[in-house]
Amino acid sequence: MKRNVFLLPTASLRLIPLVTKLFIAGIVAWFAMPARCDSSAPALQTQAILVLPTPKQVQLRAGRVLLTRRESTGQRGCCIVAGPEAGFAAEVLAQRLGAPITTTRPSGNPVVTLRLDSVASFAAKLDRDARAEAYRLEVNKAGVEIIAVEPEGLLRAAATLLQILQVEKDAVFVPELTITDWPAVRYRCASDWLINAEINRWSYDWGDGRQACLARIKRKLDLCFAYKINQVWFDGFGWDTQRSEGYADFVRECTGYARQRGIKLTFAGYGGGYGTSYQKSELYRYGYFGKTLVNRRPYPDGAEYLCRGMKQIEQSRRYGTCLSNEALQQAKLEEMKRFVAAVEPGFLYIHDIDTGTYAASQSSWLMRCDECRKRWPSDELTDPRGQAGAMADWYRQIRRTLDSITTPRGYRAARDLTLIFTSPLYTEYYEKGPLDLWQRETDYFCLMSRLLGPAAGVEFGLREQFYRPDGGRKIAHLRAALDQVGAGHGIYVIAFGGGDHYLSDDLANISGAMAHFYDGAEAVCLSNGGVHEEPVQVLNAEQLWAGSLAGYHENPPDEASAQNLFRRMAAGKYRPAALFGPGRFFDQICRRLWGETAGRAMFDAYMTAGETGEGPVSRVWWTVTKEVARLQATSTPKGFRWEDEHARWLRRLATTEQALAHARRAAAMSDDEDIRWFARCLLVGTHFSKCMALSVQLRVREEAATRAQLAKALTELESQVAAGGGLVKTDPLGGDPGCWMETIANLRKLNGL
Ligand SMILES: [Zn+2]
Repeated sequence: MKRNVFLLPTASLRLIPLVTKLFIAGIVAWFAMPARCDSSAPALQTQAILVLPTPKQVQLRAGRVLLTRRESTGQRGCCIVAGPEAGFAAEVLAQRLGAPITTTRPSGNPVVTLRLDSVASFAAKLDRDARAEAYRLEVNKAGVEIIAVEPEGLLRAAATLLQILQVEKDAVFVPELTITDWPAVRYRCASDWLINAEINRWSYDWGDGRQACLARIKRKLDLCFAYKINQVWFDGFGWDTQRSEGYADFVRECTGYARQRGIKLTFAGYGGGYGTSYQKSELYRYGYFGKTLVNRRPYPDGAEYLCRGMKQIEQSRRYGTCLSNEALQQAKLEEMKRFVAAVEPGFLYIHDIDTGTYAASQSSWLMRCDECRKRWPSDELTDPRGQAGAMADWYRQIRRTLDSITTPRGYRAARDLTLIFTSPLYTEYYEKGPLDLWQRETDYFCLMSRLLGPAAGVEFGLREQFYRPDGGRKIAHLRAALDQVGAGHGIYVIAFGGGDHYLSDDLANISGAMAHFYDGAEAVCLSNGGVHEEPVQVLNAEQLWAGSLAGYHENPPDEASAQNLFRRMAAGKYRPAALFGPGRFFDQICRRLWGETAGRAMFDAYMTAGETGEGPVSRVWWTVTKEVARLQATSTPKGFRWEDEHARWLRRLATTEQALAHARRAAAMSDDEDIRWFARCLLVGTHFSKCMALSVQLRVREEAATRAQLAKALTELESQVAAGGGLVKTDPLGGDPGCWMETIANLRKLNGL
């Protein structure tokens, strides 16, 4: 989408001491906080947080209940009372508490009961997006009772219970309380694990081999489970099940592990268009991982022809864009069927030709072939005989075809797979157009929804949006209109607000604070949380579940101020002290993830850039590679000066060195794999920053001494990378380390060294 250019494994033990340190008064004060306050710094944020994401309602009572105690004769304590519908929720609690699972309530010992009640009164007034995961957790002298409307609610309740356990010596207690809770957003994609935006390059492939990568992914899925993140942007771009040896088996193990925890993994690719296969840009450098289909009639051996496409990119009209070519569509459907059966995905993000705006979508439709014109004679987008009719036909075919897939492992696509149809027309908040532009866009989606007809698991992909010209919020308006149609289709907002390696490489991105503008969307993806961005993923999780950041809320009053704020966030130039000050929410997240002392040092590392937008270099992909591409380019944009670029790299070098010192301090206090990896990447980042500064300096002025310095720096960098051991890729691109040696080679080549 978007471009025409170019921990807690099972609520970790580490958390428990922190929770036990809470004073009851502090907890009460925290829960007494209003659910929504504005950005004028809620003072209570310095209170320790009991549960993250923040539950909707908590009533805390005096007293606590003993669940288990280890005695000389063995473990004694509670048992879990649950039926098979409780699945992993019961298993994870049983494992954590060392308790048996039974289906009948024993007498005597306390029990943890998990049960479903489809007409539970606490959920009676919740809408469809909130109900599936709603739960009530009640702790009294008899033990813990968890009630949910659907099994997913039991999973979320179990995650909550794991966070409030109090471990003391050989005993586990739980405070007496009642929590009633539900999410703000149905599918919370707080984790985009791809480094290259929504496209490719795995964050958690550290080049240390398949087994280590799989273990890491499972650990990160446990983190998602702990923080109620139920969608991960996992892989792209394409439907090739053989992109690497053993790909399908590896990925299917990940999707299964995720599904057990109520998490859906997203796989992105093309339904038509295939821009990444031929468009030249840094983001698209690695092409497409799937079959690139071309318009041919008859398909596949007939003559090539042009159909829909992008204005001024004539060749875009070749690439599988024709909607009246049934054999071509069949070939596409076959590929998707193979992929779904082999991989068992939770979401497919199906991207068509990349026309996001209304104007671009309109001009693309005008370029359709004669056969398409015969079948859909109207030039209008919003017409059953125009584009809406054509797209609805195609989407319906895809949904119906994939619905038939079931696998021996119990996967049922009709139940387990959601399809996100994106483009033509995904909207852009900055599109200039007539005053009724948004209304036209709303009408288009509503007509398409009506023509497509009732179908579960269908979402329309849109970019981030804010206010309507006549007041109110755009996404909520579209949701109300789609609900009126009544076909059950949802909205998927994919938000690029920095930290995405598209707009910026901000390490502590808070564009998620604008996600309440997307209320009404069935799913929201915040594309800002990949490598080294676990704190951001937790921050996102809080926003998408609780609807605010621990009570913190951004409320720009109008469209202009909303856009302005969003752009500052995207650039990493907005760090409100109420969230980022010492002891505030971001600091608390770091300490929750890595413990009190190491977490604090990590917080210091994340904060080194302040509001400059020039953060530490902890990733080479994009941060360095796009600047190398600029050095390789034959021209530079108007107003660009290499002197400024040189000064910028010197500043980034200084920030990276500071962050490295903090990360090393953290690493000395913790053996956490993430901390060690962060320190390692920052060390590599300092070397790359030096090489970039010297390369740019040579561009400013050719001097033999600078050249010699650069040659030496590149050799040092190379031995630093080599010292980390050989690169063993899991993903074909090998994660960030996959581009380290390649980028060094590019720097040597362009400098003639
Ligand atoms: Zn056509």
